[in-house]
Amino acid sequence: MTIDFSKCVICGEYDFQSAHICKPCWFVRLDYIEQDEEETVFGSSPEEAAEKYLARNFEKFDHPSNMTLIVVNAKYTKQYTVKVNVELVPEFTGSITKQEPAIKAKEEE
Ligand SMILES: [Zn+2]
Repeated sequence: MTIDFSKCVICGEYDFQSAHICKPCWFVRLDYIEQDEEETVFGSSPEEAAEKYLARNFEKFDHPSNMTLIVVNAKYTKQYTVKVNVELVPEFTGSITKQEPAIKAKEEE
C-alpha cells in the first residue's frame, strides 16, 4: 500500500491523490475589481470559492467587515453575487512572566 496523500498540482488541495477529484473551478473577483483581474478558485460552491478568494488575498485589503464578490462558473454561464462577512478571530499568545519552584499542596486528611 502506498500513501499518496499530497498536494494536487491542479487545485492545490491536500488529499489522497488516487481518490482525488478537484472541486469545481470558479472565476472570482471583488465587485469593484475589473473583470480581467478575476482569479481562478476551486470550491464546491460559489460561497466557498468567494471565501477561499478572500483568504488567499486578505492581506491586500483594509479589513472591512464584509465584502461583496462576483463569482462566475467555469463555463461562464452563471454569475453569483456573494456577500462574505469577515470575522476577526482572536489569537492567543502566551509568554512566561515568572518561573519558581512549585509548592505541593498539603495532602488532605
Ligand atoms: Zn485537485
